[in-house]
Amino acid sequence: MQAMSVQQPWAFAIARGGKTVSNQDVPTAYRGPLLIHASMRVDLKACDSPLVQAAGWDPRDPLATIGAVIAVADLEDVCSATVHGGSCDCGPWADPGSHHWHLGGVRALPRPIVTVGHPGLWQPKPSLVAEATAMLATALNNVT
Ligand SMILES: [Zn+2]
Repeated sequence: MQAMSVQQPWAFAIARGGKTVSNQDVPTAYRGPLLIHASMRVDLKACDSPLVQAAGWDPRDPLATIGAVIAVADLEDVCSATVHGGSCDCGPWADPGSHHWHLGGVRALPRPIVTVGHPGLWQPKPSLVAEATAMLATALNNVT
């Protein structure tokens, strides 16, 4: 398990809004489960973007918080086509010139887990992974 810190409102768009591409400056060889952490910084300009608005951005939503893990996802693939001037088919969330980290199986946490993050990918503490996993298991049990 790894963790990724993302600025709001992008973290929210991943957790709630069907954003399956994260634009990154660097590629990664990592594939697998990932905690989505909302970093302490907010991209204020992005909050008004039509894409983010269409994703249902709601500052009152508990998952719109900062400094907390808000979702679990799987890092499935990385597309670097546009970094080298090519084109790709990664959809509306993909910025030309960025590495497109493709996220699948996104599960929003029922409530945020407050924790300190780090830029880029980082190794979460086992206790943090256990808390997120237990929270999702409980949420699933309540549904079925
Ligand atoms: Zn792409």
